[in-house]
Amino acid sequence: MAEIESFTLDHTAVLAPYVRRIGVERGPHGDAITNFDVRFTQPNVREMPTAAVHTIEHLLAGLLRDRIDGVIDISPFGCRTGFHLLMWGEPAVPDVVAALTGSLRFIADDAVETDVPAVSAVECGNYRDHSLHSAREWARVVLDEGISTDAFARVGV
Ligand SMILES: [Zn+2]
Repeated sequence: MAEIESFTLDHTAVLAPYVRRIGVERGPHGDAITNFDVRFTQPNVREMPTAAVHTIEHLLAGLLRDRIDGVIDISPFGCRTGFHLLMWGEPAVPDVVAALTGSLRFIADDAVETDVPAVSAVECGNYRDHSLHSAREWARVVLDEGISTDAFARVGV
């Protein structure tokens, strides 16, 4: 099978929360797409409940795009410790951290039920499995710990 960079990462060596640049891919016309590991909780120590990850996913889809250009997609890891973020170009990690921090501040401090987009059976694949309460709690946990710009050391927090 193909080697996947994320599977070669030593998940016992990282110090969450952090943003890590996984790599840059180039298309046939030279366009760059950067893949980030956005880690909210310490791997194999704790994970977010599914409903929290799901609601954070829905909220970040809009909040992040409002705060930084070039977002292609932000999707949860199956392990529920964070998200993959795909972006056009080669954004700097500190800029991604700033946009994420602003988004999580909104979730933790200001978000109300009507802020969560696409929570109907028409718009979502599991619309019952949402928790804004839990999303706010986990956003607060990540903010209190601070998002490092280095996966292996606490930098900038
Ligand atoms: Zn959904």
